[in-house]
Amino acid sequence: MSARRATASSERLEELRRRLGTIADLQAVLSVLGWDQQTQMPEAASDLRAEQVATVSRIAHEHATSEEIGALLDALEGEVDPGSLEGALVRIARRDYDRSVCLPASLVEETARVTSLAEPAWVEARERADWAIFAPHLERIVELRRRAAEAYGFEDHPLDPLIDLYEPGMTRERLSEIFAVIAERLVPMVRAVAEIEDDCDAALRGPFDEAGQEAFAREVVGRFGYDWTRGRLDRAVHPFCTSFGVDDVRITTRFEPEYLPTALFGILHEAGHGLYEQGIDRELVRLPLADGVSLGVHESQSRLWENLVGRSWRFWQAFYPRLCEIFPAQLRGVDLETFYRAINRSAPTPIRVEADELTYNLHVFLRFEIEASVIDGSLPVARIPEAWNAMMEDLLGVVPADDAEGALQDIHWSGGSFGYFPTYAVGNVLSVQLYETAVAAHPEIEEEMERGQFGTLHGWLREAVYRHGRRWDPDELITRATGRPLDPEPYLSYLETKYGELYDFD
Ligand code: ZN
Repeated sequence: MSARRATASSERLEELRRRLGTIADLQAVLSVLGWDQQTQMPEAASDLRAEQVATVSRIAHEHATSEEIGALLDALEGEVDPGSLEGALVRIARRDYDRSVCLPASLVEETARVTSLAEPAWVEARERADWAIFAPHLERIVELRRRAAEAYGFEDHPLDPLIDLYEPGMTRERLSEIFAVIAERLVPMVRAVAEIEDDCDAALRGPFDEAGQEAFAREVVGRFGYDWTRGRLDRAVHPFCTSFGVDDVRITTRFEPEYLPTALFGILHEAGHGLYEQGIDRELVRLPLADGVSLGVHESQSRLWENLVGRSWRFWQAFYPRLCEIFPAQLRGVDLETFYRAINRSAPTPIRVEADELTYNLHVFLRFEIEASVIDGSLPVARIPEAWNAMMEDLLGVVPADDAEGALQDIHWSGGSFGYFPTYAVGNVLSVQLYETAVAAHPEIEEEMERGQFGTLHGWLREAVYRHGRRWDPDELITRATGRPLDPEPYLSYLETKYGELYDFD
């Protein structure tokens, strides 16, 4: 490359970074507005806030779809080394740009309108347990998502491009294969556990005062490595983690004085998401690379810290004495063994958000199967509840009392999110694959955990996963970190060992 061309190229790269920085700032502004709306905003402000969000969204969309970015990317694609950081930047910026421009404005507007009407309809349908109230809205949504799938383009199945929005590179076919392997081994275990009567979780029923719960959880996630100088904890009805950039990563929770696990494991979960966001390399800041690589990989981190660490015997050897110090009356007479069984109790329930570690993925498989057949037209919307209940009985051995407890329980479809549920299962599977790789490389991780120390584990995850942001696609990131792509085997043997010991079956 001549010196003059090299200069022109680096100027283009500078210009691209400048424009992407503006988009990143606007998206961070939207995140601040969203965080505020869910944690602080007075109720009466919702109309005002909707206008503010719509305005900033429109400006962000204008920037993200500008012809100038398209032209810069066209020129830079032949100029940057694909293996370099700049190469990754151009590749990811291209993906985001193509996604932003490929949907016709009319489709985007109609989807926004239809979903904004569908949500209150879903709320009403769930309250009355009446599928017929929600069905006509869902029919419109399915049609619009199918049109979006066509606009994005796909080879095999219309769910593929929708899955790809959340889990780049993943397909319906590959998920079906992985899920079939998992279900075959999980279902008999779930059945065996369901046979066993166990009400040991009485120990977790309160009251546990909020201040004590908060103090304990803050101490723990600080030990994990969550940096409180770059984060904070607030209350929200539907807990989440949000990032406005690597120096401002916030988590939220909902305290339930009557049931200890809700906030405790909720905070460990959100802090796992937060550790990922806080661990992204500073050189990626204000670029589209400064984000989790996929929802599945993101969820692998919340699940790793919540379950592999937070529900482990080793972890509680370190922290149970401290919890008993904070709640001496509530935990009097509850030994560590009982407490450990209580936080790991498994019992099938029709409700996904109440599902335990063992049964959770089966809830995901059911939704995934239904989504795939609704989107490809093989299952009419009217017949979803029937299909739902039949699969629920097959997989979990329980039947929902009504559609509120069945096909109407989740908000996701009312917002048009199809292909989102599988990321929860991908996260569960990856959490074990990553954790076991870390422990194989550094066996001292588990001894450290017994002493309430997490530096080696956190350091390994930061190096292997967090710092790279979106630089590598999920498959490449996971292969670099663990030596192979997504593999359900570690997850399955982990559950077999853990629940085999807890419930004494084999
Ligand atoms: Zn999560």
